[in-house]
Amino acid sequence: MLVLSAEQMASIATAAEAAWPAEGCGLLIGKGRRVVTVTRIMVADNLLKTQGNDRFELDPVVRFAAERSVRGTGERVIGHWHSHPDGSAKPSATDLAQAWEPEMIWLIVGIAADGDGRPQAIQMQAHRLDREAGKIFAVRMETAEKRACQGAVFPT
Ligand SMILES: [Zn+2]
Repeated sequence: MLVLSAEQMASIATAAEAAWPAEGCGLLIGKGRRVVTVTRIMVADNLLKTQGNDRFELDPVVRFAAERSVRGTGERVIGHWHSHPDGSAKPSATDLAQAWEPEMIWLIVGIAADGDGRPQAIQMQAHRLDREAGKIFAVRMETAEKRACQGAVFPT
């Protein structure tokens, strides 16, 4: 399970909308194994943004900076996020062909234009891609706010 706060989801949506009509991308920093909690979001430049709106390559400078920033902390780079300007939040054929690092979580945000032609994040889904098995696994998502509610004990 992937746990994100509403604020983290909103910052991914904002960065993805800003990158539209190209794909936006960035990294997810977090902790935990069975329940993976996102602690930070990073936004990266998409090096392929001028080569079509169906692909991304995360700027490696941001990846190196992320790896440096988690050294000696309980955090790690748990995955990355990118957007699909066609509104889909499912991995594309291009994504499957580039699915290195099978332990990484792929968070995909679908962006579509609203009635005024402005980009809007319309859906967000988390996946794990296993190229060897040729399969995509859905990763359940929950907001940190919902988890906090579930853990709270309300007076009866
Ligand atoms: Zn994609």
